[in-house]
Amino acid sequence: MTVAAILSRKGREVVTVPTDLSIATVIQMLAEHRIGAVVVTDGDRRILGIVSERDVVRALARGPGALDGVVESIMTAKVVTCTDRDTINDVMTRMTEGRFRHLPVVEDDRLAGIVSIGDVVKARIEQVEREADEMRAYIAMA
Ligand code: AMP
Repeated sequence: MTVAAILSRKGREVVTVPTDLSIATVIQMLAEHRIGAVVVTDGDRRILGIVSERDVVRALARGPGALDGVVESIMTAKVVTCTDRDTINDVMTRMTEGRFRHLPVVEDDRLAGIVSIGDVVKARIEQVEREADEMRAYIAMA
């Protein structure tokens, strides 16, 4: 199964923020959308960074004054991405090696979706269940 298959069911909507948004507003957006990360983009949907709840927690550990800071001061600027053609295994490997749970999808240098570890686990479970069903059907035919 590919990233394209995951996104065909999940949709390609991604919550994005500009670099100068306050961290306090990012926290509100994460809570409102029930998500763990937002992608930082420019006006052309090019990726400039990613901010996850982990970055927010690290910032807050420095004191409540961090809430007045802006996205750019806490985002990870070197973002690892994937494309529609990557497989679940490719995505799982990239997340495991990078120790993160979000992978923005890029097409033609622009943001085209996002895959979270939850999406990957769900897709993998469905794949395993489908294979087991096929195996049971094959054995029943014999
Ligand atoms: P997460 O596990 O996604 O909450 O992220 C953990 C840390 O990795 C945070 O510092 C994020 O900014 C960073 N991060 C999340 N996703 C990516 C990604 N695709 N590429 C690079 N860094 C990331």
